Amino acid sequence: MTTTPTTTPRWTNWVGNQSFTPRQMIEIQAEEEIAPLIAQAAAEGIGVRTPGTGHSFTPIVETEGLLLDLSRLRGILSIDRERRQVTAWPKTTVGDFGDPLWEAGLALNNQGDIDTQAIAGAIATATHGSGLRLPNFSATLVGGRFVDGLGNVVEVSAEENADVLPALQTSLGLLGLMTRLTIQVAPAYELHATHLLLPYEALIERFDEFVHNYRSFAFFWLPSDASAPLYCLDKGQADDCVIKLYQQATPDTPREGLPDNQRIDRSYRIYPMHYDPNFHEVEYFLPMPHAREILCEMRKLMQRWLPLSVYPLEIRT
Ligand SMILES: Cc1cc2nc3c(=O)[nH]c(=O)nc-3n(C[C@H](O)[C@H](O)[C@H](O)COP(=O)(O)OP(=O)(O)OC[C@H]3O[C@@H](n4cnc5c(N)ncnc54)[C@H](O)[C@@H]3O)c2cc1C
Repeated sequence: MTTTPTTTPRWTNWVGNQSFTPRQMIEIQAEEEIAPLIAQAAAEGIGVRTPGTGHSFTPIVETEGLLLDLSRLRGILSIDRERRQVTAWPKTTVGDFGDPLWEAGLALNNQGDIDTQAIAGAIATATHGSGLRLPNFSATLVGGRFVDGLGNVVEVSAEENADVLPALQTSLGLLGLMTRLTIQVAPAYELHATHLLLPYEALIERFDEFVHNYRSFAFFWLPSDASAPLYCLDKGQADDCVIKLYQQATPDTPREGLPDNQRIDRSYRIYPMHYDPNFHEVEYFLPMPHAREILCEMRKLMQRWLPLSVYPLEIRT
């Protein structure tokens, strides 16, 4: 099996705010090609990076060295129903897990706003959805295989190199190239989604109710009338909140005659939203006990100092 250099060596991320030309970009055809390439790069003192699907807004993939394209390493390798674990290639997208896991009676425990990230990219950066009691993607990694910076193939599991697991869970791509990932999943579940549009003051009054009474709660605060279309949201004016409330559906959850703002479906069909590549985001983690207060200050600050801002604030628990 031979490696194939790609014809256009310039790499650009999904949104288009990061691009660079590596010294060389190689499209990997098979897993075994990776270790010798990294060993050779190490011997020559050349850095190596690999992209997921390029959904990070920062120069986290950038390298002047070797860029390895793992696009062919995509798909599920095995599903262990008893342990509720799935092993996949690194370029398997979050969305790729949906149907096969469902057929095995399983599902990803939680998901974020899109399902087009590569699982390796999502895990390397602690991608998360909402929900006080739900783990992020990194926390679900229980094992796998990676090639370290010297070209050594390292197996990681509860039995083997277990001490490396925490570093691999949110590695930002710095520990080596993950080639196989085993993640813990959940029994298949349906979600009952409710979408609300409330003025900011009404949202704030019900903030604690939403945080504690739902499996997950997230919302967008819209600073301007132009915010909703920017984020492909179908309605909302300045100072409104577009709210997503998800509850796990049970066999007893009524399904007939649901109002237009509610929907029940398999979990992986509920989570993903549509975004156009027209924005950049930055994310802050804040202590939950102060969340409401911080949010109010943030809104005041934006209204006072950024009156022309159209970018929504997305708040998650
Ligand atoms: C529209 C949009 C919506 C988003 N929604 C959410 C959300 O709801 N929740 C959230 O938390 N984040 C969200 N994000 C952020 C996104 O999930 C992260 O940036 C994630 O890293 C993107 O995954 P990726 O596959 O595109 O990885 P990339 O951005 O391509 O890469 C991220 C990192 O992973 C490393 N990496 C990739 N593959 C491997 C590998 N095989 N081995 C080792 N390292 C590797 C890369 O080198 C890089 O360091 C969103 C981003 C966008 C653009």
